[in-house]
Amino acid sequence: MKIHEYQARDLLASYGIPVPSGQVITSKEDAAQAYKSVTQDAGTDLAVVKAQVFAGGRGKAGFVKLVRSADEATEAAKFMLSNRMVSNQTGPEGLEVNKLLIAAGVDIAHEYYLAITTDRATRRNFLIASAEGGVDIEQVAEDNPDAIIKTPIHPLLGLQSYQAREVAYALGFKGKQINQAVKIMMALSKLYHDKDCSIAEINPLITTPATTDNPDGQVLAIDAKFNFDDNATFRHKDIQALHDPSEDNPAETRAAKMGLSYIALDGNIGCLVNGAGLAMATMDTIKLEGGDPANFLDVGGSASEEAVTEAFRIILSDQAVKGILVNIFGGIMRCDIIAQGIVNAAKEIGFKIPLVVRLEGTNVDAGRALLEKASGDLPTLQAATDLGDAAKKMVAAVG
Ligand code: GDP
Ligand code: MG
Repeated sequence: MKIHEYQARDLLASYGIPVPSGQVITSKEDAAQAYKSVTQDAGTDLAVVKAQVFAGGRGKAGFVKLVRSADEATEAAKFMLSNRMVSNQTGPEGLEVNKLLIAAGVDIAHEYYLAITTDRATRRNFLIASAEGGVDIEQVAEDNPDAIIKTPIHPLLGLQSYQAREVAYALGFKGKQINQAVKIMMALSKLYHDKDCSIAEINPLITTPATTDNPDGQVLAIDAKFNFDDNATFRHKDIQALHDPSEDNPAETRAAKMGLSYIALDGNIGCLVNGAGLAMATMDTIKLEGGDPANFLDVGGSASEEAVTEAFRIILSDQAVKGILVNIFGGIMRCDIIAQGIVNAAKEIGFKIPLVVRLEGTNVDAGRALLEKASGDLPTLQAATDLGDAAKKMVAAVG
C-alpha cells in the first residue's frame, strides 16, 4: 500500500524527522490562503506547490513548483489540477491530480538520498544513501553506482548508531549536521520496522545553507515516499486509515472484490490463468513469442463461475486488449467452470477479438464439450495444445 507525500511527511514528523510544514488543498481557490498561511508560519516568501500522486519524477514533469507569491501559487495549482501528470514513473497516459501540497519552501545547500528497503537476496533490510540525491538519483544508480552506499541492517539488533555515523561521515555531513543525520537515519529505520514498510525513502534529504545563527545549516526531509507490506497492514490501523481509494486502479479493485488477483499492465494480450506461478510463466511465454501481456490475472483455485465471468468482463473492459489467452491447468480449479465462464462472457459481451484457450486437467473433457457446444457464440476461439502453442497462436492472432 502506498501513501501520499503529505501523509509520509506527517509520519516522518511523528518520528522526530524534521520536515517543513505544509497544507493540502484540492481546489485552486484555496491556494492563495494556503500559501499565505505556510509562508507566514515559516517566516519566508518561498513556498513549493507539489502534486500529490503515487508516482515520483514530479519535479522534472513540472509538478513541483517553487512560488514566491499567492498569485504564483494559484497559477501553479491551476496548472497541476487541470493537467495529468506524465513522468518517467507513470506511463504515457499519466495520472490525474486531485490533491496538492503547499509547503514552506527552503533554501537548499545540498541534496542527499536516504532510503530503507528489503534486499531479498541477502534477506536483510538495507540503508541506502547517497550524497548525489535529488531528481537524478536513477541516473546516479546507473552511471555511478559507487556513489550509493548500502548498509545492511541486522534483523534483530536493527540499525546501529555506529553504522549511521559511518554513513553520515561518508556522505560528507559536517559539524552539527552529523548528529542530525544520524538521528534521522535511526528514526527512519525504527519507522520502517515498526510500520512494516517495504520502502521508506527520503529524496531529497537536504541541508540548508549556513547562516550566522546556524553555521552548520539544518538537515531536513523535503520529499518522502513509503510503501507498506500489504500482508501486514492488518496490524496497523493507523496506516490503513491513510489508504486513499481514489488512487486505486478501478479494475484492480473490482477484481479484488471477486477474490481475483489482477494487475493491469500496458501490453495488448489479456491473460486469464489459474495460479500465480502459471500466470508468470504465461506472461514470460507471451514475451518470448514477441507479445506483450495486458494484465496479470490469477483466478486462483476456487473461483466460481461468476468470478470467472467477471474476470472476462474486466479484461474486455480494457480498450488496449486485442486478444485473450486463457491458460488453465485444472487442479483444484475445474476446467468446466472456466469453460462456463467463457460461454457466459461470450453470451453477455461477445468475443469480437481473438480468443486462444488451453485447458488441461480436472474435468477437461467437460470443459471442452461446453466450448464445443457454444462454438456458435465463440467465432474467434482457437484451441491450443499446450502453453507454447497457445502463446504462438495468440501472438500471431494479434499481429
Ligand atoms: P519528485 O521530483 O517527485 O521526487 O519531487 P521532490 O519533492 O523531490 O522535488 C523535486 C526537486 O524540487 C527536489 O529535488 C528539489 O531540487 C526541488 N525542491 C522541492 N522542494 C523544494 C524547496 O522547498 N526548495 C527548493 N529550493 N527546492 C525544492
Ligand atoms: Mg523526490
